[in-house]
Amino acid sequence: MVSGDCDFLVVGAGAAGIAAGREALALGLTVRVLEARGRVGGRACTDLSLGAPFDLGATWLHAAQSNPLVPLAEAVGLSLFDHDAVRDSRVWMGDRWATPSEARDYEEAERAWHLAVRQAVRPGARGMSLADAAPRGGFWDASLTHWEGPVISAAEARDIDLGDYLSTLLVGTNLLPREGCGHLLEVLAAGLPVTLGAPVERLAWDGRRVRAEGLFGTIEAGAAVVTVSTGVLASGAIRFEPGLPEAVLQAVHDLPMGLLGKVGLRASGEDRLDIPPFGGIERRVEEGERAMTFVAWPFGRDHIQGFAGGALAWEAEREGEAAMVDLAFSELHRIYGGRVDKALRRDGAVVSGWGHDPWSRGAYAALRPGRGGAREALSAPIGGGRLRLAGEACHASLAGTLAGAWLSGAQAARQAAALLRSVRDLSA
Ligand SMILES: Cc1cc2nc3c(=O)[nH]c(=O)nc-3n(C[C@H](O)[C@H](O)[C@H](O)COP(=O)(O)OP(=O)(O)OC[C@H]3O[C@@H](n4cnc5c(N)ncnc54)[C@H](O)[C@@H]3O)c2cc1C
Repeated sequence: MVSGDCDFLVVGAGAAGIAAGREALALGLTVRVLEARGRVGGRACTDLSLGAPFDLGATWLHAAQSNPLVPLAEAVGLSLFDHDAVRDSRVWMGDRWATPSEARDYEEAERAWHLAVRQAVRPGARGMSLADAAPRGGFWDASLTHWEGPVISAAEARDIDLGDYLSTLLVGTNLLPREGCGHLLEVLAAGLPVTLGAPVERLAWDGRRVRAEGLFGTIEAGAAVVTVSTGVLASGAIRFEPGLPEAVLQAVHDLPMGLLGKVGLRASGEDRLDIPPFGGIERRVEEGERAMTFVAWPFGRDHIQGFAGGALAWEAEREGEAAMVDLAFSELHRIYGGRVDKALRRDGAVVSGWGHDPWSRGAYAALRPGRGGAREALSAPIGGGRLRLAGEACHASLAGTLAGAWLSGAQAARQAAALLRSVRDLSA
């Protein structure tokens, strides 16, 4: 049992919670972090069962130039690898790989696709989805919409607000921490006063202080930040007393969780399927078709990573871990036929399960079309600022990423520190 008193309570030890805890400690506050799982990192988790680091969740440090985790990773001596420098993606055309000239056409089509999506924005037009704006009918259009929707945004294009899609487009370099993003967060959480295995069940913010309760005990604080996903908020796993304001509940509803599933398959022999380390595998799709994508042999390791996003991921996850492995094999079968059964092992496959995990309930949030303003509403002060929500869904431009979660958590801590200082000054 833990109980007691602190200045600042942090619910959740993912990127946002770790950032909030570190910032609050640096500002001189007393802090307590309560984490439901038996580990820190949240949706960043590095699995080692393939014999090498494999991130089940967050994998890249996107937008490296503005990503606060890049200097922090370097400061703790972790090595970051520029994935973009070695990207070597190939596209399966149904019966053969795309030729170099087709690959150039694909790149050209990508530029045109992005231009068309931007040009579809009309001043004052609310409620457009990415699917409404995405060009159709061109040879590569369906593949590009599939990539930007399910694969990148973890949601179907029709379920993504166009304006939000454009505001949260990631620009800049994508770096890979060699030891994994989950490992990076573990290192950054070292020394924080985290209680693991401590799900908060009730959070009371009716008095001058905030009180968290659960099987772990009771913690009181001058201010608190709750960093759980919108999926967890929507599930009602935390009973807020009084209930969250209507505008916040609406924002939770407007930011449902998308799903990206990952699977790690180990090589069974020396066959590397003629793909170099970091080689990407995509498939050209027709409209309405769904496909997995792959990154092979990262860092020359002997595993391949598969990704399934949006509806495909929810379906596979509903059917269970074996279905996700089957899906990966059936995708690779299209290309390699029976060779893949010899090259890759089914046993020991690692499969993420973020959709049914009660502490995430999805991968990251996508804004429903026409619901602009929800990210701001989600991070607005509650109870005069005693309580705030933070996390990836709260960030205006880096939503869905570790960087956005980190910045949002750190900001919530600074806001709490300012509030607590002003309360102390008043009562002094
Ligand atoms: C498959 C996948 C791939 C991704 N790829 C990338 C990528 O390449 N790059 C990138 O930047 N981002 C990526 N992301 C997104 C990134 O992982 C998230 O944006 C980020 O980790 C969210 O951090 P957070 O702190 O907001 O939330 P979380 O990490 O979810 O942290 C919230 C914490 O709260 C805890 N919690 C939940 N309920 C309770 C409770 N009742 N009491 C106490 N604690 C509770 C949870 O266990 C969790 O630890 C990916 C995500 C997934 C799933």
